[in-house]
Amino acid sequence: MTEMIPSLSTYDWKNHKSENVSIIGIPFNNVSKKEMTDHIHKFVNASTKENLFIVTANPEIAYYAHTHESYYNKIKTADFIVPDGIGIIKAAKYLKQPMKERVPGIELMENMLSIADEHELRVFLLGASKETVKECKRKLRHTYPNVDFKSKHGYKDVHDYKTLQKIKKFDPDFVFVAMGCPKQEDFIFYNQHHFEHTVFMGVGGSFDVFSGNVKRAPKLFINLNLEWLYRILTDFKRLKRALIIPMFLMKVFQQKHTPELNPHAHFKEKE
Ligand code: UDP
Repeated sequence: MTEMIPSLSTYDWKNHKSENVSIIGIPFNNVSKKEMTDHIHKFVNASTKENLFIVTANPEIAYYAHTHESYYNKIKTADFIVPDGIGIIKAAKYLKQPMKERVPGIELMENMLSIADEHELRVFLLGASKETVKECKRKLRHTYPNVDFKSKHGYKDVHDYKTLQKIKKFDPDFVFVAMGCPKQEDFIFYNQHHFEHTVFMGVGGSFDVFSGNVKRAPKLFINLNLEWLYRILTDFKRLKRALIIPMFLMKVFQQKHTPELNPHAHFKEKE
């Protein structure tokens, strides 16, 4: 992988020129999983004090940002917003601004862990319950033996001083935050300025999957782009959340047929 990395002196990693696609007002980066992985690899090799903030947004997150101004303003500061969900890819196609492919957060995390393993990096896992994050760390240590892992559960306030100090002391290269939306992006937004040359990414329920507590959908569901359906069928608590999907689709329909409407005029909550 390393030989594919271009000269860092000519690589402007902050001003990457990936095309933006606006879906209900959320500026997605039209990048493939490989391009995003290469970008992170370049960032790891770059000598910079700046951080990299990546949001992997599915329709639920996009709709939440569309209706919550303060969350929207936070994710707008991210370096990348990548399409994590077939709903985003289908919406982009419907809006005649097709995007390359779905970039599932959990798969991007796996690619990042391979980079971390190759370069013997430090990775902090923040989120999920105490038992889950411990088990997740144990399993990941086994798969990526060259990575130095540390962890903390996610049931703390995003401004928790002790948690911040623990992460800072570790001086991580990557911080994966698995607290769900909006908390994980809130945490990154409020705390990233305490760090240098660190990649931050919200990874939702990924620690539940890595720990073995929750199974990822079988390959068949993934290949048929029905992973979202599998998650609803296996966890009925998700049913209420799935009701957001029709609302997301309605907004996409509105965007197509009344493009003059500013999608950001629909914040439900004025914060
Ligand atoms: N979580 C957390 N702190 C909180 C609330 C949730 O660490 O205050 C964790 C929760 O235990 C779960 C994850 O955040 O592991 C949320 O996963 P979810 O399935 O909601 O995320 P998705 O994959 O749908 O984005």
